[in-house]
Amino acid sequence: MQKLQNYINGELVEPISGRYIDNYDPAIGEVYSLIPDSNEEDVQQAVAAAQAAFEGWSLMPAEQRSRIMLRISALIEDNLDRLAKAESVDNGKPVSLATQVDIPRAAKNFWFYATGLGHYSSQAHAMENAAINYTLRHPLGVVGCISPWNLPLYLFSWKIAPALAAGNCVVAKPSEITPMTAYLLSEICQQAGLPKGVLNIIHGYGHKAGAAIVSHPQVKAISFTGGTKTGEAIAREAAPKFKKLSLELGGKNPNIIFADCNYEQMLETTLRSSFANQGQICLCGSRIFVEKSLYEKFKKDFVARVKDMCIGDPAVDGTHIGAVVSEPHMNKILSYIELAQQEGGTLLTGGKRHQLQGRCANGYFVEPTVVEGLSYDCRVNQEEIFGPVVTIMPFETEEEVLKYANSVQYGLSSTVWTESLNRATRLAQQIEAGIVWVNCWLLRDLRTPFGGVKASGVGREGGFDAMEFFTEPKNVCIKIN
Ligand code: NAD
Repeated sequence: MQKLQNYINGELVEPISGRYIDNYDPAIGEVYSLIPDSNEEDVQQAVAAAQAAFEGWSLMPAEQRSRIMLRISALIEDNLDRLAKAESVDNGKPVSLATQVDIPRAAKNFWFYATGLGHYSSQAHAMENAAINYTLRHPLGVVGCISPWNLPLYLFSWKIAPALAAGNCVVAKPSEITPMTAYLLSEICQQAGLPKGVLNIIHGYGHKAGAAIVSHPQVKAISFTGGTKTGEAIAREAAPKFKKLSLELGGKNPNIIFADCNYEQMLETTLRSSFANQGQICLCGSRIFVEKSLYEKFKKDFVARVKDMCIGDPAVDGTHIGAVVSEPHMNKILSYIELAQQEGGTLLTGGKRHQLQGRCANGYFVEPTVVEGLSYDCRVNQEEIFGPVVTIMPFETEEEVLKYANSVQYGLSSTVWTESLNRATRLAQQIEAGIVWVNCWLLRDLRTPFGGVKASGVGREGGFDAMEFFTEPKNVCIKIN
């Protein structure tokens, strides 16, 4: 059984307590590796290493930093198959998804911020010949990056890459449920020649290792992606210490379909936006609203396509739906399906744990599930399920669907399907969300800001918003005599 280690000051080290946590393969329902059960002392060592490395890293010429980050990016690409397999085993996601999306995007994160380094410069302006004003941007020092289990290496690197590019040193914690690719990243950083202490990776529980990162006085900022409740706890801890916070939290995203849409494109994309990664992407469109005149046709075609999806071993090509991430998470999803029926919903397909044969007989598989007949304000339509469960509902007018869309506490992403530019523009202005996709889903450009409103988060990541987050501006005003 493989024992993972923390990555502190460039070395792979045991947790100080000597204790380890079981790590499950969700497709077979068995423990397959052990991860450090780190505590405050491990975090203290990591922060001290990061602090010691800060001067060297932040003063290193940008080109040199950039070259090291490009080597990390290239090594992620070189190790594509190994990383994709590790991600699939850890998380239950189909290996094809990890190979085509997760791992290439992780490599791209390092590439993007390595190549964007030079674009992030100070600004200067003259004040009516009386003074020269310029604004420097300094790295913050040691920053904390904490990520969830659904897109493990992609979201981990999404935070670490801009933090490093801006000249910070990092103490990072992956989810205790999916630690493997973060562990492999530590090996890659060693190979790439990342100086000791610049990146430190601590494994363990959120309430222990994660909380110790958040509360450490030398950690100047926290970039966190995860659940809304955890985000609240982090904000409570960090606010009185005046730490900078970026919180990327839960979602309950609307997918709004008008009768004039490009039907085939919409149907194919809606299948993905509903069930990709077993519906465990914060951007999945879990509430599908369909214009009344199209509703019956959509329902028939969509349900038929969902029934055709292949639930299977994530390691096998052709699997559309792999395992959900853990047994407790599976039980949570199943309890929401139960609730949907109690709330008056009808299951059009799915609704149960799925039983596979052979090596996956004890895996955590849930059938892709479509529910209709629920009101927009019931719990199933208001709370984040984060699994392969969608609700469908008809609407008649733009005003009505806007009310449904905006009725939730969340505001992460949304999708609108229409060929009318006027309608798309109107809705894009009024939907309460950080992202509005029109006639597409998950089309991302790393230059653009990413994040949510309301309970979906505070701040923006991605692009140069992330560079802004990981730096502090300092205005210098020089009077001209
Ligand atoms: P989670 O909040 O349980 O855990 C996320 C991370 O925080 C883990 O590494 C965990 O160990 C750590 N953690 C837990 N308690 C902590 C504490 N008190 N202090 C510090 N760290 C702590 O979330 P999860 O179950 O891993 O992920 C699923 C959630 O993430 C969903 O709600 C999903 O919508 C959200 N998510 C959001 C985005 C986004 O960009 N908005 C992206 C992906 C996932």
